[in-house]
This record gives sequence, C-alpha cells and structure tokens, in this order.
Amino acid sequence: MAEASQRVFLALWPGPEVAARLHQISLEAEERCGGRCMRRDTLHITLAFLGEVAESRLPLIGEAMAALQVGRFRLRIDTSGYWAHNRIVWAGGRAWPEQLDALVGDMRRALADAGLPVAAENAFFPHVTLLRKAHAVEALPDFEPIDWPVDEWVLVVSCPSSDGVGYRRLAGWPLT
Ligand code: ATP
Ligand code: MG
Repeated sequence: MAEASQRVFLALWPGPEVAARLHQISLEAEERCGGRCMRRDTLHITLAFLGEVAESRLPLIGEAMAALQVGRFRLRIDTSGYWAHNRIVWAGGRAWPEQLDALVGDMRRALADAGLPVAAENAFFPHVTLLRKAHAVEALPDFEPIDWPVDEWVLVVSCPSSDGVGYRRLAGWPLT
C-alpha cells in the first residue's frame, strides 16, 4: 500500500492586524470583481510549494529549515493586481527586501539538497491571494500601504474541507 502523504507548502502568515487589513481589502475588491473572497485566517504568501510529500519525509523539511539563517524584515504591501490566467486578485509589494529573496533562495536550495525539489517554473513573486474566480476590473481598490513585520516562516499542510481548502500549521522557524 502506498505510504500516506501530505500536501504541504512553506509560507509567511500574517499576524491578526495585518490579516484584518488584507481581509478588508479583499471585501472591497470583491464588490468590484465578484469571485470568492479568501477567509481571513487563510491569507498568506507562499514561499515554496512542495505538493504531496510522504509523511516519513516530512522531518527532512524540518531539518533543512532549521539550518537556515536569515534576518528579520518588514514587507510593505502597497499594490494589488488581477491575473487573468488564474482569475485571482492579489495584494503584494512594488518592492520587497532582499532578505525575502535570500530566504526563498536558501530555502529552495536546502530543500533540493534534501531531495525535495520545489516546483519553481516562474520567478518568485510574493503575493497574497485575496479573491478567486474574480473577473477583471478597470481599477482595484486603493489602500493605505500595510506594514507587515515578518519574524518567522511556517510549514503548512493543505487539506480539502467542506468550505474550501483548509490549512494547518505543522511547524515554524524564526528569522533571526
Ligand atoms: P485550492 O487548490 O483547493 O483551490 P489552494 O490553492 O489555496 O486551494 P493548494 O493548492 O494546496 O491550496 O495550495 C497551497 C498554496 O500553494 C497556495 O498558496 C497556492 O497558491 C500555492 N500553490 C499551489 N500549487 C502551486 C504550484 N504548483 N506552484 C506554486 N505554488 C502553488
Ligand atoms: Mg491550488
């Protein structure tokens, strides 16, 4: 019998204040673009999507992540957009600190070294998905930039649930 696996990814998860601000923007965007608003507690930035990983290999992720050393940083969320190819509305930053690129680069190398290569067809572009199945609009909501202090990244399991996808935190690692 095939070994059980989990659908996992590494992400930045906002604290309650940042999540509330992002959620407010989603509600405003939903009025203009329709679609389905993500739940407040599910808002995140994916850093590396691993997909199905056998349960026996999950500790390898922890070992690889524990060896990383990246300094704390702050994200400025000051723009939003619509991608026609997957019909999502997202929020992100016009720029982001080099520590975030360093974290993602180090993370992907460490995972590849552990035999867990990450699918990375496109360049990393940090964003929070706000709406799914949205339709294009002329103008997305304007909003005051959000200051998001980042002090950890997390490993999350994605599991289908009756009201859409559910996410469960498995572990987290501090930025130094
Ligand atoms: P659902 O697929 O059920 O609509 P979801 O996309 O939020 O919900 P997952 O597909 O498990 O749930 O994805 C978890 C996270 O990883 C999401 O942020 C998603 O955008 C991202 N992700 C999923 N597949 C990939 C991929 N192939 N490459 C990069 N990121 C991905
Ligand atoms: Mg998905």
